[in-house]
Amino acid sequence: MPDCLFCNMSSGAMDVPKLHDDDLVFAIRDINPRAPVHILIIPKEHIADARDVSERHGPAIARMVSVARDLAGADGLLERGYRLAFNIGEDAGMTIPHLHMHLIGGRHLGAEG
Ligand SMILES: [Zn+2]
Repeated sequence: MPDCLFCNMSSGAMDVPKLHDDDLVFAIRDINPRAPVHILIIPKEHIADARDVSERHGPAIARMVSVARDLAGADGLLERGYRLAFNIGEDAGMTIPHLHMHLIGGRHLGAEG
């Protein structure tokens, strides 16, 4: 996907500071943080959104969740807790059509929505 922002970050065509980078996923800080900690964990494979996830994506999805735990730990959130969220489609406010998971924490978050 040549015009995809996250694909360009993944390939290195666009240079951004990455908190994590491995064979399956990478992570960056959200440029518009909604909490003291707001990180995006992104699979390198172009998947449009969570509606397109299937069994074969299992390793990438598991890696996303475990990388989120490690990054939450690095930011001191393991005891207090944090939220992992996928936005899907317009009503959920999804703005970049490449699957990404939000890691949000560092304050009391209240209920979803
Ligand atoms: Zn992409």
